[in-house]
Amino acid sequence: MNQSLTSFAYLVAAVLFILALRGLSHPTTSRQGNRFGMAGMVIAILATFLHGGMDWGWALVIVLGVAIGGSIGLVVAQKIKMTALPQLVAAFHSLVGLAAVFVATSALNAPQSFGIGTPHHIHTESLIEMSIGLAIGAVTFSGSLIAFAKLQALMKGTPITFRGQHQLNAGIGIAILLLVIAFVASGGSMVLFALIAVLAFALGFLLIIPIGGADMPVVVSMLNSYSGWAASGIGFTIGNLALIVTGALVGSSGAILSYIMCKGMNRSIINVIAGGFGNSGDGAAAAATSSEGKAVKHGSADDAAFIMKNASKVIVVPGYGMAVSQAQHALRELGDLLKEDGVEVKYAIHPVAGRMPGHMNVLLAEASVPYDDVFELEQINNEFATADVVYVIGANDVTNPAAKTNPQSPIFGMPILDVDKAKTVLFVKRGMSSGYAGVDNELFFRDNTMMLFGDAKKMTEEIVQALGR
Ligand code: NAP
Repeated sequence: MNQSLTSFAYLVAAVLFILALRGLSHPTTSRQGNRFGMAGMVIAILATFLHGGMDWGWALVIVLGVAIGGSIGLVVAQKIKMTALPQLVAAFHSLVGLAAVFVATSALNAPQSFGIGTPHHIHTESLIEMSIGLAIGAVTFSGSLIAFAKLQALMKGTPITFRGQHQLNAGIGIAILLLVIAFVASGGSMVLFALIAVLAFALGFLLIIPIGGADMPVVVSMLNSYSGWAASGIGFTIGNLALIVTGALVGSSGAILSYIMCKGMNRSIINVIAGGFGNSGDGAAAAATSSEGKAVKHGSADDAAFIMKNASKVIVVPGYGMAVSQAQHALRELGDLLKEDGVEVKYAIHPVAGRMPGHMNVLLAEASVPYDDVFELEQINNEFATADVVYVIGANDVTNPAAKTNPQSPIFGMPILDVDKAKTVLFVKRGMSSGYAGVDNELFFRDNTMMLFGDAKKMTEEIVQALGR
């Protein structure tokens, strides 16, 4: 396959990747988006494979690699629980980072194979690209491993902080920059290359340890972005157009996603990049004291069924607890029964409900909840005042008025779903625990709130049974 044909194939693949991202932006088109992405990847791999003639020995190695990696991916994808996706994504990013480190190392050791010079003279621009790719790849690798360990509870999720942390990180960042300049000036010194790698691995580790578990999904999305830029940098080194474009797409979409998540949680993206906006845990402490001495009204599935049956409009607010208990199918059944009784049923999705962007949309889509019944925060927030019942299923922080009223609260400034404006608020949760941010929710104690204590799926199934009686 000649160069222009390969470039054309890469262009087609890049267009398919863009269509994939566009498709993935809405539940109705997401499957199609996935297909575009798969087709683009097949074209990109085939074009790389066939470019410059086929070496059958290497072809066999690549086929074996794809078969082994693909099989592992297939098994993992089938077994993984939706709630464990953030740590899976973190683990994948660590591999992207490591791959960038390996490619940069190979390019330095065998520049002639990459067409970037000879062992005695590597082109300056290639030295710049490979050292930057190495640094970003190494930061991504160690940072993603720490993110994985925290999310998988292999290490404590609480922020690890020490005095002078930010100064140390800034110092290492500057040292890496100076080493990159020295490496390029030296024409590709192995020692400087190794020093860049060591410092960048250390920086990835140091950037992520101060981040609390609650903020980790944003960091995973940020690392996703870094892994894209690392791949793009390496794409320049090896002169692969597909890698440059795909890396840039991953880099920019990851950065946009991080920005959206930060906005949804009212966090500063600069703090995420600087690595230090973890929760201090003060919120949890505040929760323990503020709920003291107050009584809550709690009811049964029968009570909930009675109230809902007599409502004309019910808005469902799903959250992390629905995902944990996998209550989405029971929830759809509940919605169907209410609709049969002439009740208007809508679903309100907060941008950071659950533990990853689009978490609730995916689960509701899996249970075939009609897309037309699902609304974003901005679309539905004014409607709570006209709802008879809000069924808050496993959600907590995203309804917490402290985000509006308490400047000391860690969630202050985060937009919330105004569920308290409804006539009755039904909260399904197992107990009085706080949500992810560790803050108490005063809504539990309001007069128009009824707590339904129990597992989200079990409680919803019981309400469905009660409605059927
Ligand atoms: P949440 O505030 O974490 O609250 C979830 C509630 O579900 C908990 O209070 C828990 O109470 C309950 N629960 C857990 N398991 C349950 C079960 N089996 N059955 C019934 N209830 C159960 O969740 P959220 O309202 O969805 O808010 C999401 C939080 O995650 C926000 O703080 C957000 O900033 C953060 N976050 C989200 C993302 C994202 O991209 N979506 C990213 C980063 C951070 P009990 O223990 O009493 O049952």
